[in-house]
Amino acid sequence: MTIQSVGVVGAGQMGNGIAHVFALAGYDVVMTDISAEAMEQALALIDRNLERQVSRERITAEEKAAAMSRISTTTELTDLGKCDLVIEAATEREDVKNKIFAELLPHLSPDTILTSNTSSISITRLASRTDRPEKFMGFHFMNPVPVMQLVELIRGIATDESTYRQLCDVVEKLGKTSASAEDFPAFIVNRILMPMINEAVYTLYEGVGSVKSIDQAMKLGANHPMGPLELADFIGLDTCLAIMNVLHDGLADTKYRPCPLLTKYVEAGWLGRKSGRGFYDYRGDSPVPTR
Ligand code: NAD
Repeated sequence: MTIQSVGVVGAGQMGNGIAHVFALAGYDVVMTDISAEAMEQALALIDRNLERQVSRERITAEEKAAAMSRISTTTELTDLGKCDLVIEAATEREDVKNKIFAELLPHLSPDTILTSNTSSISITRLASRTDRPEKFMGFHFMNPVPVMQLVELIRGIATDESTYRQLCDVVEKLGKTSASAEDFPAFIVNRILMPMINEAVYTLYEGVGSVKSIDQAMKLGANHPMGPLELADFIGLDTCLAIMNVLHDGLADTKYRPCPLLTKYVEAGWLGRKSGRGFYDYRGDSPVPTR
């Protein structure tokens, strides 16, 4: 089967980036979200990000216009029924994802490949709730999608070889590189990255360092391009907490215990950049540490 049309569920940080790279690579994209506002913002952001690529001479103005014209939006999830490939990139909650799949499945062609951009939830378990475990995969893009080179490909226990091969080809067409991970909690990138971020929050919680000193230490002392708290804000603290909970529940090891301070920030609605405040306050001209 040739993949030409791609449905993206969720127009948040990841959904807009995914729509951007697929449209630029020549795919027809239909994006949906429960929030019409999120979709409007996503389209505006894609336009701005493509414009930046034009100004840096990475793409031409014609390529930008063609990419924008390939993206359509809808508030009806069922409009994604005709797509050859669906990428679910909604909120990191298993009940939300299961509900989306249950509503979408009756409208899909039997050949459609169904994927989730989940950072941590079991692909095998998500797949088992659908009518097509053999055509279901984890398709894990990194944030920000237009910039990051890697896509993690996660096969569930039942995923067939042809589905995997087709997604390898898609990744190549996007000009990205894939790494295959087995289906265990949080896969490869987040299995390693999130405990480090969580440990940075513990370091803050226990008063070992301030937000500024922790980020400075890891940038200058470990040569990381971003400090761990800055990175946590960028990812979204709700997403970080959800991933830690998946690691904790799935591997039953206390070393994955989410830091209570991370939970407190999420409970306060301080989710990082996307909500204007997290370990830094982004409401002014430049980010100010909140601790
Ligand atoms: P986000 O909060 O920015 O966006 C989620 C979007 O999903 C919101 O716009 C919300 O309105 C929408 N949504 C919620 N329920 C929906 C439904 N039933 N139908 C349609 N849309 C719905 O989150 P995000 O950071 O874009 O994360 C999305 C997914 O990508 C998660 O599974 C997350 O784990 C994964 N992911 C995130 C990152 C990251 O760095 N943030 C990286 C890789 C993967």
